[in-house]
Amino acid sequence: MGISMALKTLEKTLRERFPNYKRLVFFNRFLARVSIKGKDECWEWLGRVDDEGRGLFDWQAEDIMLASMASYTFFVGPIPRRNGRRLCVCHSCDNPLCVNPFHLWIGTQKQNIHDMMAKGRENMYYDRRGERNPKAKLDQRIVEYIRSEHRRGHRSLSELARRFNVSVSAVWDIVHEHHWQSKEIQ
Ligand SMILES: [Zn+2]
Repeated sequence: MGISMALKTLEKTLRERFPNYKRLVFFNRFLARVSIKGKDECWEWLGRVDDEGRGLFDWQAEDIMLASMASYTFFVGPIPRRNGRRLCVCHSCDNPLCVNPFHLWIGTQKQNIHDMMAKGRENMYYDRRGERNPKAKLDQRIVEYIRSEHRRGHRSLSELARRFNVSVSAVWDIVHEHHWQSKEIQ
């Protein structure tokens, strides 16, 4: 009998007696789906991905989380919240498959969208050529893109939210022109 088989037979007892055991089982399962490399390299997710190429980790059948969020949770701890809402787990490497905890940082939705735009991750939606100050225009372009997609009914708020890795309420704000009328986008 292998170690895991032996553990399986004890599983119920272990879970009851040692609450941390369940978490370790999940962590084990998580690690089995990661291509672990050096500290500075991307650790790509080998499990399921969503339609935007982001890793998905299933804690339970119905409890699915982005693999990057699961990674943060395992390595660092609970994802901080602000105003009752979870902050974003952002990638410094821009690789949506990456779960290397050294490449993850916590930001607000606004910071995340700024970072994304500053790095030109949404290149497919704009063309920087000829712009003297591309960064100054990015906010406006992404906001306009979201608004026009929504206006034309091409994508729902939740699809847009997933596309840009922000909350539905953040997309709602953009669509309804809250926050984004400010001087930032002038
Ligand atoms: Zn990475």
